[in-house]
Amino acid sequence: MTKKLFYDNSYMQEFDAEVISCENDKKGWALVLDQTAFYPEGGGQPADHGVITFGETTVNVMDTREKGGVIIHYTDSEIPAGTAVHGRIDWDRRFDFMQQHTGEHMFSGVVNSMFGYNNVGFHLSEKDNVVDFDGPLTKEDIKAIMDRCNEIVWANQTVETGFPENVKELEYRSKKELQGEIRIVRTGSADICACCGTHTATTSQAGPIVALNSQAYKGGTRISILCGKRAVEYLKNRNDDCYDISHQLSVPVEDITSAVTARLDEIGQLKYALANAKRQLMAVWAEKAETDGELCVMVKEDLTSTEIQSFAALLSEKAKTAVVLSPQGENGGKICIISTVYDTNKLGRHISAALGGKGGGRPGTYQGNVDKTADENALKELIVSFE
Ligand SMILES: [Zn+2]
Repeated sequence: MTKKLFYDNSYMQEFDAEVISCENDKKGWALVLDQTAFYPEGGGQPADHGVITFGETTVNVMDTREKGGVIIHYTDSEIPAGTAVHGRIDWDRRFDFMQQHTGEHMFSGVVNSMFGYNNVGFHLSEKDNVVDFDGPLTKEDIKAIMDRCNEIVWANQTVETGFPENVKELEYRSKKELQGEIRIVRTGSADICACCGTHTATTSQAGPIVALNSQAYKGGTRISILCGKRAVEYLKNRNDDCYDISHQLSVPVEDITSAVTARLDEIGQLKYALANAKRQLMAVWAEKAETDGELCVMVKEDLTSTEIQSFAALLSEKAKTAVVLSPQGENGGKICIISTVYDTNKLGRHISAALGGKGGGRPGTYQGNVDKTADENALKELIVSFE
C-alpha cells in the first residue's frame, strides 16, 4: 500500500519518498514509492503529472495509476529501488482539476437540492468538464443553478473531506453502492458526496462557476461547466469576441445580437433580390441567343450550379441541344448540357476528354466541371466533332 499524502493535504506540491520498486512495462517505467502526493486517475479526475528528482537527475511522471492500493508512477527513466527521491507535481494542472472537480460537486449538489435530479455522468479532462443529469433543465433553470453556486462560492464555505464513522446515517450522493471505508466530501452547504478526488479547501477557491451550453441527453441534460481560472479565461476570450463583433458592426457591445440578426435579414433579402435579377438577366440572354434550332452554345461567367441548370433549361426551349459553360475564375468552370438528340453523358465525356474535368446526370441532362474553359466557337467545334 502506498501512503496517499494527497488525502492528508490536497495542497501538497512537493514531498520526499523512497523508491520501493521500478519495473519496465508497456507504459514506461512503473515506479512505486513508499508515499506520494501524485493523485492517480480515479473518480472522474485525471492523473497527476510532474517530476521526480534525485541528486542531479530529473525523471518525468507522465501518468499515475492505482492498482490494489499501490500507486504506480509511469516515468520516462528508471530509478533504482531504495533511492531517496523528491517529487514535485505539476501544480497548475492539479489545481485546475481541483477547481473543476470541486465546482462539479457544487453544481451537482445544487441541481440535486433544487430539482431532485442525479448526476449520472461526469467527464473531466484538460479541456472539458461535462456533467449529465437525469432530468430536463431549461436555460432559466441553469441560470438559477449558476446563481446559487456562485452565492456559495462567495460565502467562502469550508470543503471538508474525511472518513466519517456515522457514514451510514449520512445522506450523500453516490453513483454506485459503496462498501468498506467511504470517503465523504462536504462542499460547504452545496453538497455531500462520496468521492476519492482532490478538492479545494474552500468553496471560494473553486469559483467562479459558469455553465456553458446544455443539450438534451438520454432523457436528461448534458451541461458543460467551467470553474475557477478556466471560467475566467473563457469569459476573457468571449469578451474579446463580443468587442471584435461590436467594432466590426459599429454598434455598442450590448446591441450585437440584434445587429447580427438585422444583418442576416438584410443578407437574406439581398440574396433574394440577386436571384431575381439573375433570373431576369438569364431570360434576356436566352432571348438574344443565336441558334439554328439544333444547337445553342453560350459561355457566361460565375453561374452557380442551380443557375447554370436553369439557364441551360431556358436555352433548351430554343434548340434541341443546349450547352452552357460557366468559367469560375482560376478554378476551371462548370458545364451543363441538355439535349433531346444526343446521349448527354457521352457528349459530356467527349468534352471532358478535351477540357478535363468530370460530371454526370440522368439521360438528357449532363452537369459537371471542366478544368480548362473554352469560348463559344471552340465549344461549338468540339460538339460538331462529336457528331
Ligand atoms: Zn468527486
